[in-house]
Amino acid sequence: MTKLNIMMVHAHPADFACDASGTAALHLEKGDNVTSVVVSYGDRHHMHWLFDQEKKPEKERDPDFANLDAEMYRDFKKRETERIAEILGVELVLLEWTDCEIYFDHDKVMEMAKLILKIKPDIVVTRMPTDFGMTHNDHPMTAKIVAKAIEVARNRHQIFDGVDGYKGVKQIFYTINGGEEVNGNSNFTPGIVPDVWVDTTSVIEKKVHAIDQLVSQGYQGDTARWIIESRDGRWGMIAGSAYAEPFLRPSGIRYNSLPMPETVIGFNWKPTVVPGAPLSASKIPSGTPDSANRLRL
Ligand SMILES: [Zn+2]
Repeated sequence: MTKLNIMMVHAHPADFACDASGTAALHLEKGDNVTSVVVSYGDRHHMHWLFDQEKKPEKERDPDFANLDAEMYRDFKKRETERIAEILGVELVLLEWTDCEIYFDHDKVMEMAKLILKIKPDIVVTRMPTDFGMTHNDHPMTAKIVAKAIEVARNRHQIFDGVDGYKGVKQIFYTINGGEEVNGNSNFTPGIVPDVWVDTTSVIEKKVHAIDQLVSQGYQGDTARWIIESRDGRWGMIAGSAYAEPFLRPSGIRYNSLPMPETVIGFNWKPTVVPGAPLSASKIPSGTPDSANRLRL
């Protein structure tokens, strides 16, 4: 089997932990390379820890809270991101773009194109670039930057640019975060139907522990288990496994004959399809280190 080189691009650390982290862990376990690019620290999103601290009397706050500034808070978020990378085992690239200020612009496209030329991925994984909710938020913006950067990287030329174009991106897989699929509650969402489901049951502990790191957003503990049981578990129910992650490819796939993957040809009839999970996400012990709650180490 050829070793795959996978590049994942996420707008925020939370997307890094929540979107395709199970799939990343699975590919790493089978010996593929995964580089995760997290373009911002997500420091202007879901500031749950900060909100909690502000409500507390001064003496109960984090000892460094009085000196808190934007840089210290970004460092707190950076540590979370690095812990997620360590749990999953991915190569981490941080671009330090300003959170909530991610626009489709030339500099960002060129920075991303440069990374594609360096990483030379076979597969790119990122969020859906389609802004169905017309929110223009960081997720579709980041995905649009990635899609454009793939085009730029492909069409570089040694004579004009001093670098060969990279034409090796063979497949893009768009992630779906749980609000865009069929029955999504946005009036602008026509209903996305994922076309690939990855069974993440065997790595669900890693995914729960990745989410456990997001103390700044209050995602640790019960919240992480709730996300996995209700969202990844629902995806698993659709896909026929305990837990799953959904993807959508931008175009139809051509086969030489009818595709029959091992999960289909190896299907054994059972009177009731039980998940078969070695453990339930809700029972996974905490993966949040005590120091995760501290603003500074
Ligand atoms: Zn996000």
